[in-house]
Amino acid sequence: MTRAYTAALVLVMMCTVLVVSDTVLSSHQAPAIQVEGGYPLEFPNPNTRDIPRGLSQGWIPLGRKQISVPILMYHYIRTVPRSAGQLAFNLSVTPADFNRQLNWLSEHGYHSVTFDDLRAYFSGSHELPSKPFVITLDDGYRDLFTTAYPLIKAHGFVAVAYIVTGFVGRLRYVTSDMILEMDRDGFEIASHTVDHADMARIPLGSIVYELVASKQWLEKLLGHAVADFAYPSGKFNALDVYELGATGYSTAVTEDGSTLRLWAARYTWTRTRVGGGEAFTDFVKNLGPVEPFIFAPANVV
Ligand SMILES: [Zn+2]
Repeated sequence: MTRAYTAALVLVMMCTVLVVSDTVLSSHQAPAIQVEGGYPLEFPNPNTRDIPRGLSQGWIPLGRKQISVPILMYHYIRTVPRSAGQLAFNLSVTPADFNRQLNWLSEHGYHSVTFDDLRAYFSGSHELPSKPFVITLDDGYRDLFTTAYPLIKAHGFVAVAYIVTGFVGRLRYVTSDMILEMDRDGFEIASHTVDHADMARIPLGSIVYELVASKQWLEKLLGHAVADFAYPSGKFNALDVYELGATGYSTAVTEDGSTLRLWAARYTWTRTRVGGGEAFTDFVKNLGPVEPFIFAPANVV
């Protein structure tokens, strides 16, 4: 009798866990309608919110060796016609699409984090918020400051800007003052080499120069350490990985790949490419699996 009671209790507990898991995973199934242009447009629906009534926010507990955190990769946030060429079109997400993506992330309980937050998590000093994701913008084009920055800020998000230090101040690129303003506003400023070199092909002396000179330039401008790097065009080799560690970097990102983060793989963390003209359903799908999280009662947070 006692055994049967225990079995029933275990079954009830398992069902409860499954219901909670289902609540978490159902976040990608919000109602959508087709609008002009073929993109599904999401509408916030209080009945499909991820956080149950009475609970304000979730967190990912410390101690997990591997977690799913999408690192989104953007270049230009601008409108260009297809006639500008396929490469330019693919690298350019329109401000309207970018805004729609940020809206969706916000409405579905995603929290933007930086590499400082991932460092804090993996070093055991701080939990991550539920549904963490990283916004990265490559190359430091002028629209990083004029378009992406205000939109990201309006959503209460932050981002990581990979700057090519030798291009700063040029006509189509951000200025030193723009970098300083974003840094003061919580954006993470990171290195993308001095001159967008191909890190898979240059000799050792050039690898060290690209890593050290760009880092020192940014650190002198900002007055604090810079520890994150993005390989231009995602190209890298084993020597780069070694030198990144030797020159004081703590992370580096490539292009394309999964959303899984393992600290041991931090010099080759993959990113999720967000392309110009990409279907909205692909954007949502490419966010990958939701890392399971714990709910926090409203009066605790
Ligand atoms: Zn680049």
